[in-house]
Formats: sequence, structure tokens, C-alpha cells
Amino acid sequence: MTYSLLIKNARTRFSGGETVSIGVKGDKIEAIEKSLPEKEAEQVIDAKGNLVTESFVNGHLHLCKVYTLEMVGQDALSSYHGGTMGGAMTAIEQASRVKERYDESWIIENVRKACTLARKYGNTHIRAFADTDTKARLEGIKALLKAREEFKDIVDLQVVAFPQDGVVRDPGAEDYIRSALELGADVVGGIPWIEYTDLDMQEHIDRMFALAKEFDKDISMLIDDAGDPGLRSLEMLAVKTIKVGWQGRVTAQHCRAMALYPEPYFRKVLALLQKARIGLVSDPQTGPLHARVRDLYDAGVSVALGQDDIADAYYPFGRNNMLEVAFLAVHLLWMTTFGDMEIIYDLITTNAARAMGIKGHKLEVGGNADLVVLNAKDVYHAIWEHEAPLHVIRKGKDVTVH
Ligand SMILES: [Zn+2]
Repeated sequence: MTYSLLIKNARTRFSGGETVSIGVKGDKIEAIEKSLPEKEAEQVIDAKGNLVTESFVNGHLHLCKVYTLEMVGQDALSSYHGGTMGGAMTAIEQASRVKERYDESWIIENVRKACTLARKYGNTHIRAFADTDTKARLEGIKALLKAREEFKDIVDLQVVAFPQDGVVRDPGAEDYIRSALELGADVVGGIPWIEYTDLDMQEHIDRMFALAKEFDKDISMLIDDAGDPGLRSLEMLAVKTIKVGWQGRVTAQHCRAMALYPEPYFRKVLALLQKARIGLVSDPQTGPLHARVRDLYDAGVSVALGQDDIADAYYPFGRNNMLEVAFLAVHLLWMTTFGDMEIIYDLITTNAARAMGIKGHKLEVGGNADLVVLNAKDVYHAIWEHEAPLHVIRKGKDVTVH
């Protein structure tokens, strides 16, 4: 057999309204033609003129905290979302209480539930953050590493060891990050803006980069996630990235302070982001301020969207449905034209993959056979209805659940 899987009558984003056949062999796309011989395929899926695209990529999810909102209570929600995010640090302090009860045995159940939803909604790649600090210890990390193994053929979890309560502020957190890396965590986390002074922020960044270098890991940091245009940790992160030669290996999540930057400072930071090739992940649905997604995209920065939270202290909803995240982003970023929606779609597929260092995530010959067959004819209708895909293809296999 030439193909292990063949998808016929597929419309793609670039097939000009025509349908094509997509031939898959193993975990790669082998051919895309007007039509391909069905008898040469072990399995055939009829897309019936629906849109077929790359599967969805989620640039940021606090996976250890999913479904903890009802356990932790609602205090943090109003602190985080109120006014112009002046209380964001208070929210993190309130939310951290839940970690006193952290235990791998109940966390893993929640993680499995979220990963099963990811499968349903065709969200096959997730940069998954686990709080790794003196309160959470290694309980979240252990649960996520277990889930990474369990779901490895369906959902690719890039596990981030994340010192949610700071590094300088939380003596001992750094040792837990080191232990998490020794256990096999994929990415070094950070949240420099939460430290009390600029000097401490720099030290936070320096210490996490030292670990990343030692273990040869990529870096993902939560950056300037409050309504304060004076926060400077994005600039510090970019400068450090260039200094140590980690270009293309660093992502910055949130960066909400950017919404309040004076224009000259925004342009300076943009130039640094370009030089450092930092990927930027925005989650417009989980807070009232947003990074300047459209301007960053136009400047060629690898921008992505993230689910961020599923029913935790910071956000009450979420289903790991990146089309739902896209639907919300269209409103919150006011990117409502069809052209804008095509950009938004890039931010949950190809652009997000680029930000996260995933190679070959493209619907093209030789690309990865990680695909979705949607119940929609084009991107506009896909975002409008944000339904689960009709088929989810992962590593060339149909892994659909309904
Ligand atoms: Zn977050």
C-alpha cells in the first residue's frame, strides 16, 4: 500500500475552494493531489468538502491547576480581572493556597480529563506548565510527566517546570526546578515580574537561564502580567536571550503590560523581540489587558494563542478547544474580518508551532500528519461554530473521540 491513510474531498486553506486528496504514510504527509487512488490506501476518510488543516497547538496551559477553581474559591478571580490588573500579584498569592493540598494522586485525574478534551478538540500539542516551588513541590511535575507518557501518541505535552511564586521570593524553588529537570521536565519556566525589585527580576532570569544552559533546555516565562507599564522583564528576557545565544528557544507568555507601553518603548521592545527571536503567547480571554498581537504578527514575531487556564483560580471556563480560544480572541482583539481570522488561525496552528519549536507542523508534502478534519468549509465558519473536529489525525493515525 502506498498510503496508510488517505483523506479525500478535503478543502484546505490554500486550495482555492477546490477539494484535494491528502495521502499519509506513517506519520508524514506523502502527497497532496487533486485526487489519489483509494485502492492504494489502507484507510480512507471522506472529508466531504470540509476544511482540513494542521491540528491545534496550545502555547500555554497551567495543566497542574485544571479544575481547581471550586477547591480554591473565587477570591483570586476579582483580584486578577479587576480594574486595570492592579491586583494581579495579590491574585497569585491567593491562588497559591491550593498548593498546600497538592498531591499527584488527584492532580493526575484532572490532567487526564483535560488531555482527553484536548484529544476531542484536536489540540495535539500543549506547552504545559506545572507549578514547581516550595508549596507545590514536585507533585504537579510528577503528574504531568506521567500524563506526557500516557498521552504521547495523542497529545504532545511539553512540560514546563514553573516557579509560580518566584525564585528570589521563594527560597528553595530553584532546587525544585533542578529536581524537575532531573526527572525529565522539557522546559525551564520563570515569572520574573513577580519579584519585588528589578535587581531580583534580573537575578530570577539569570538563575533560570543558568539551569536552561546546564540542562540544554528551552525557556518559557510568564512576563509582565499586570497593569503596570513600568514592568521591564520582557526587555530583560530578550537581552539575556541574545547575550547567551538562546535565540529561537525562548517564549514569553502573557506580556499584558505591553498594552500600556508608550509607543517609543513598544518599538524598542519589538526590535529586541525580533533580534532574540522570542515567541510570544497571548491569552486574551483570561485577563483584561493583552499584548499587541496584531502588531507583533505584522512584525514577524512568532505569536501564538494559549488556553492558559481551565477552571482554576484565574479563569472559570476552558475546554482545551483552541477554536473556542480563537473565537474569543477575535472579539477581544477586534480582529473580525475574514483576513484577520486567517491570522488568528495561524496563531493556533502553524505560528504557534513555530513559537514552540515544533518542526514540520505544516499541511504540505513532507509535513507531519497531525491534522484535523473540521465540520466547516472554511476558517470563518470553523471559528464561528468552534465545534470539535470530525476527525483528529495524530502521527498519521485517526485518534478521534466523540
Ligand atoms: Zn498563565
